[in-house]
Amino acid sequence: MSHSTLVDTPTQAFDYNEFDTYVMHTYGRFPIAIEKGQGCRLWDTEGREYLDFVAGIATCTLGHAHPALMETVTQQIQKLHHVSNFYYIPEQGALAKWIVQHSCADSVFFCNSGAEANEAAIKLVRKYAHTVLDFLEQPVILTAKASFHGRTLATITATGQPKYQKDFEPLMPGFVYVPYNDIRAVENAIADLDEGNSRVAAIMLEPLQGEGGVRPGDLEYFLRLRKICDENDILLVFDEVQVGVGRSGKLWGYEHLGVEPDIFTSAKGLAGGIPIGAMMCKRFCDVLSPGTHASTFGGNPFVTAAALTVLETIEKENILQNVQARGEQLRTRLRAIAQKYPTLFTEVRGWGLINGIELQQDIELTSLDIVKAAMEEGLLLAPAGPKVLRFVPPLIVSEAEVEQAAEILEKVLEKMS
Ligand SMILES: *Cc1c(COP(=O)(O)O)cnc(C)c1O
Repeated sequence: MSHSTLVDTPTQAFDYNEFDTYVMHTYGRFPIAIEKGQGCRLWDTEGREYLDFVAGIATCTLGHAHPALMETVTQQIQKLHHVSNFYYIPEQGALAKWIVQHSCADSVFFCNSGAEANEAAIKLVRKYAHTVLDFLEQPVILTAKASFHGRTLATITATGQPKYQKDFEPLMPGFVYVPYNDIRAVENAIADLDEGNSRVAAIMLEPLQGEGGVRPGDLEYFLRLRKICDENDILLVFDEVQVGVGRSGKLWGYEHLGVEPDIFTSAKGLAGGIPIGAMMCKRFCDVLSPGTHASTFGGNPFVTAAALTVLETIEKENILQNVQARGEQLRTRLRAIAQKYPTLFTEVRGWGLINGIELQQDIELTSLDIVKAAMEEGLLLAPAGPKVLRFVPPLIVSEAEVEQAAEILEKVLEKMS
């Protein structure tokens, strides 16, 4: 192992068995326990150092222990951390204003996770269908195959991947799946469903499919989709949970596609690793009236102060420029690696700092194999399905750190082949 020991205070050995005794086994965990972070670096309980290209799955926007975020949360917890939405919350208002002024949205609802934000969007679509398009008894939402929208019952139903739905039937009614980036499939689904009480009320898509294998949306497809939605009174909903908040090199993923959604959701990177979800919409479909939707924690002073600091820091420190430059640098390096190992890899895809390298389908090697080997060499990566290796570092990652990640990957592949 090539880890350097930089943790100043050696800690007690971590008891994995004890952890597994008390915590449910819903995750397949790697056998390291992370204890400490700084920038794009993490340290485990044995003092081994890692370069973090997972960032809590595209979540730690400003990396670990960022001074601006530390300052905000320290001050806010001393002032006020939680009150009910019975009352006006100044920090929540300030965050909503920032989001509205920097996006196509007119208003915001706050909750605590990506799945919850998508639940809110699904409820909004259904209420709009029932109350505005009042002839609709069975509103259907089209979603994409290979999509990912979360782990609640509604959002595993929206997720077009049977592996997330297995053993949790019955699923929610009202969802139909179409292949991603295929406009003909959308047209056919709309025509097929336009009968009796059933009709397509919304199309919900990721601008770039994250979990489904880092697949960017096709510009032409989304332009035509926007037109179809306008002509047929269909709401266009974007799940920006993974790709939003600067991850793509633009503030919102939809800015890559030349269209604006009617509704979009955000979560992962929005408060830089403090739990938050948000659902944004345009004025015309802002139909959730008092009492129809709520969240106890949603938009509390602590998390909304943190999120505003993340967004203001992105703006102040020109972080989008860094995302674009580091993304280019990383894709260039990954393309060279893919060319060097044509029997292992097919292609490199991504926007900004959400990138994937795809493995050949007909070989035994999986993304998980490479993730494990890279971890041994001090680089943390995440799979995006069995055949795509995903790179989602903090948006503050430096040129030297991108280079180091590429060098570690090269070393790992050299050893493997
Ligand atoms: C992670 C993710 C979700 C789910 O977010 P949670 O916070 O885990 O509920 C939904 N949609 C997309 C695109 C995601 O990447």
